[in-house]
Amino acid sequence: MKKTITTEKIPLYLWLDDLEDGALLQALDLANLPVAFHHIAIMPDSHIGFGMPIGGILATRDAVVPNAVGVDIGCGMCSLRTSLTGLHPAQLREIMGLIRRLVPVGFQHHKEDQPESVMPALPDESSRLTPVSEREFAKARRQVGTLGGGNHFIELQQGSDGYVWIMIHSGSRNIGLQVAEHYHKLAMARTEARKEKGAVPKDLSFFRADDPLYHAYLAEMRFCIAFALANRKLMMQRVQEAVAAVAGDISFSGFINKPHNFADTETHYGEEVLVHRKGATRAREGEPGMIPGSQGSPSYIVRGKGNPLSFASCSHGAGRVMSRNAARRKLDLKAEQQKLEKMGVLHAVRGKRDLDEAPSSYKNIRKVMANQQDLVEIVTELKPLAVIKG
Ligand code: 5GP
Ligand code: MN
Ligand code: MN
Repeated sequence: MKKTITTEKIPLYLWLDDLEDGALLQALDLANLPVAFHHIAIMPDSHIGFGMPIGGILATRDAVVPNAVGVDIGCGMCSLRTSLTGLHPAQLREIMGLIRRLVPVGFQHHKEDQPESVMPALPDESSRLTPVSEREFAKARRQVGTLGGGNHFIELQQGSDGYVWIMIHSGSRNIGLQVAEHYHKLAMARTEARKEKGAVPKDLSFFRADDPLYHAYLAEMRFCIAFALANRKLMMQRVQEAVAAVAGDISFSGFINKPHNFADTETHYGEEVLVHRKGATRAREGEPGMIPGSQGSPSYIVRGKGNPLSFASCSHGAGRVMSRNAARRKLDLKAEQQKLEKMGVLHAVRGKRDLDEAPSSYKNIRKVMANQQDLVEIVTELKPLAVIKG
């Protein structure tokens, strides 16, 4: 941990020295929430988010804050190791071409329903209380196995262990967004109606556990987390097919899956609490995970240290140094492309509008890793070989 900030209520624990002002104000709002438990943890990749910093962890007692989970519910990463020790640029190009045919990106979805067997089961609560997943289920059959927009990616990487790795970043597509927006609106109404003492910022509106909507939100949130996993799994399967089609008879390791927008019941400081991680992942002792850098910097396979100070969590990436708009305005397209090409990465910075995902729009991952040595140990360093962005 780098520093603590005391407030009138609970303290902030920070794993970085330089939290931007906007994100600091958001962190203070979290600490002031009447339902916040023990302290707020701010990961080293933290930056301003919607209502709450990305890279923030909030534990609550008997309450859930939909915006502390985030709008892309269940968004996360998955990784696996191939038995390949390397790929030539021509092979990489062929694989990426095949992946593009198998995995729709951006706003695109499949033209046909995907098998129902890949879909998670709908929440078993009465459909009256969990209407969104049910309403969106049919459409989701065409969205499962699709990448989604901008920040989501499929990347092939060269590991320091000598093997080629695959990493996928994606979430719950439209269904998670629909659930998030639906319940945030309801949470605002509930929060206003309760007329409790102490101001709760609208963006941090919450349900108390005695409210049926608390359970309805959690049921639909869990469905979206399961859907996001199904989505990444199906894409991973297709990426494996593409790699095998080009590289031949190869094998794959087990699959590491880490959501970074979710809430879960856990025990911390002797109490059962609901831990909200928004742009943060769980890092229990010995738990495997991954921390991506950018398409032009290393990513890492890590093992958690189970540090109670972070509620056994770590960063979900490098984090942004500038907003998407600022990146498009400030970064130099030629310079970004040259840097990536010099590294030999088959990158995804094709034009000015891709600059928001250029490596320079993200923090220095080495510094981010140095700031969380008490949270994770590095197992494997992964260098980018080729990337597809949403
Ligand atoms: P999110 O959009 O979920 O908040 O960000 C996830 C993290 O992924 C970012 O903080 C960044 O460090 C990382 N990241 C973004 N784009 C890429 C990419 O193309 N490749 C890799 N390896 N990491 C990326
Ligand atoms: Mn994400
Ligand atoms: Mn996402």
